[in-house]
Formats: sequence, structure tokens, C-alpha cells
Amino acid sequence: MPTVVTQSPEETEQLGEILGRQAQAGSVFGLTGDLGAGKTAFVRGFARGVGSTRRVHSPTFALLHEYPGGRHPVFHLDLYRLNSPDDIRAAGLDEYLESPDGITLAEWIERWNPAPGGHIRHIHFRCVDEHRREITHDE
Ligand code: ADP
Ligand code: MG
Repeated sequence: MPTVVTQSPEETEQLGEILGRQAQAGSVFGLTGDLGAGKTAFVRGFARGVGSTRRVHSPTFALLHEYPGGRHPVFHLDLYRLNSPDDIRAAGLDEYLESPDGITLAEWIERWNPAPGGHIRHIHFRCVDEHRREITHDE
């Protein structure tokens, strides 16, 4: 599991952009880490790497944002305000976590409580200090 420490939001975006360039349709990335750890910054770069020029927002007040225009649609979920897998299903978001017609990045994937060993690739974000973020990912 490679771990990188980024020194700025731009560096976190660059890491997202690299993974976004390689991402295949049907992929699901589960992002974990506290508020302010850089999950949304990562998604901003990732969407750019997939080729979308749509601006990335923090989805805190919307459960789902879609960024079209790239090689594949990018779906950006924030599950923070949903408490359980049942709530996620009731909101109609389960299809984005199971078999997206594009690429899904889900902040607060803990809420979905996926079975270990499933298809979701986890990326963990940790604040080291004001400017540094430790990011650990599957590949
Ligand atoms: P999250 O989505 O995890 O809540 P955001 O990406 O919205 O986090 O916010 C990260 C915050 O941390 C931003 O205010 C950003 O400017 C700041 N920041 C400082 N250093 C970094 C870094 N290395 N990577 C990402 N964000 C950083
Ligand atoms: Mg966020």
C-alpha cells in the first residue's frame, strides 16, 4: 500500500489526477478520513484526470454531484449525513456503489460498511499538520 505525504492542496489534486487518468469505468473508490483531510481536493484532481472540466464542489449539501465530459462520467458522493446502508439505499445511491455506469468516488464510505475484499478501492486521508496530508491507497 503506497503512502504519500502531500504538502499542499495542489499536490493532493495532482495525486488524484494521476489516478483519474488511469481509472476504468465501473471503478468505485471509497475515501475515508476526517473533515478537512483532503478528500474533496483529491476528487477535484481526479475528475480532471478523467477529463472533465466541470468544477468540483464539496457535496456536503448534495448527496451526489456528477462531472460529465471526460472519458467516463464521474460520480462524487458524500455519505456523511447518511447513517447506514439502509439510508444509502433509500436515497437511491446504492447503484453508484455497486455498479456505476462511470466511476464513483464516495466520501465517508464508512457509512456503507462494505464487506472486506469487495470491489471498492479504499483511499485513506490523514492530516499530519496544517499543510501535510498522508494519503494511503491500494495501488
Ligand atoms: P475533505 O473533503 O476531506 O473534508 P477538503 O478537500 O474539502 O477535505 O479540504 C481540505 C482542506 O485542507 C482545504 O481547506 C485545503 O486548503 C487544506 N489543505 C492543506 N493542506 C492540504 C493538502 N496537503 N492536501 C489537501 N488539502 C490541504
Ligand atoms: Mg469533502
